[in-house]
Amino acid sequence: MSGLPEPRSSLGLREGYHSLQVDAEVRLNTNESPWPPPEAWRAELAAATAGVAWARYPDRSAAALRSAIAAAHGVRPDQVFAANGSNEVLQAICLAYGGPERTALTFEPTYALHGHIAHLSGTRVRVVERDAELRLAPGAVAAAVGCLDPAITFLCSPNNPTGMLDDPGVLDAALSAGSGLVVLDEAYGQFAERSALPLVRDDCPLVVVRTFSKTWSLAALRLGYAVAPAPVVATLERVALPYHLDAFKQIAGRLALGYEADMRERVAALVSERDRLVAGLGALPVKVWPSQANFVLLRPDGRGGREVWKGLLERSVLVRDTSSWPGLAGCLRVTVGTPGEDDRFLAALAEVLA
Ligand code: PMP
Repeated sequence: MSGLPEPRSSLGLREGYHSLQVDAEVRLNTNESPWPPPEAWRAELAAATAGVAWARYPDRSAAALRSAIAAAHGVRPDQVFAANGSNEVLQAICLAYGGPERTALTFEPTYALHGHIAHLSGTRVRVVERDAELRLAPGAVAAAVGCLDPAITFLCSPNNPTGMLDDPGVLDAALSAGSGLVVLDEAYGQFAERSALPLVRDDCPLVVVRTFSKTWSLAALRLGYAVAPAPVVATLERVALPYHLDAFKQIAGRLALGYEADMRERVAALVSERDRLVAGLGALPVKVWPSQANFVLLRPDGRGGREVWKGLLERSVLVRDTSSWPGLAGCLRVTVGTPGEDDRFLAALAEVLA
């Protein structure tokens, strides 16, 4: 025995992207929905799964689920690729369109898994920083994409962790300045006032990525999808493992789409609760960035982010400590919760900052 082998050196053994799963009474750290999906959906799901032929592999093409997603967005099923969470969608994109000798471009600070997954797939990652207000100017995007001509340009709007929506010129700039794929992560799309979904066409290299984890109250389900040109979807299907979407998930996702009105109601309630939370923060010594998502980025004046994070946790309120992320010194990200949870957070923060 000569010990265990080393993983490939190009992996670089980076830290993964994990939010601490510590016990706290109020958990506002992972941008989940504070409310469960509808009870009627649970009942329908229980009845539908009773009929599953568990001894058999599921529908490999997930035809019914993809048709339901396509119908919800007014596109064709062959323009929909579904996977185990939008993270797996991003992984399939990187495996197919990234890889050695290819570049992926990210605009930091943004969702850390764009760069992380690209790196794991062997793709060279280039990072361009947002401006001092954490915004992205179309001119800066055009310059970066024109100069690097990345195989994949990642955009995220509303952006995690800033919560801000990109100027519409950003997407135009990314699409027209390069020849690669532009991947627009809309994990928080339904919270915002506009979406790029209507721009997806078979002859345009735009891929819009969405998830059931946030607005659909289904983070435990692990289901996400891309709406993309049909040839891109066909390529992603070839990269995905056979039968990667299990029968339960296909049924659960399809049935969830039947409760769109409930989802929109929850989203509207969270948007008004977000505005209440931001108003509450306005009375405290913190800088707040304007959010179009279900979370808010803030920076306490003159106090270390880690110190404030710890003070909140001592009061059993868990938020995301983003203070060590590039460009986010002193910052914390708080998910919009129920009114009761948000009041607990505001009271705890007022105490910590007193
Ligand atoms: N994209 C963004 C911007 C996110 O914030 C998240 C979740 N934190 C994801 C994708 C991943 O979501 P999923 O649960 O669908 O993998």
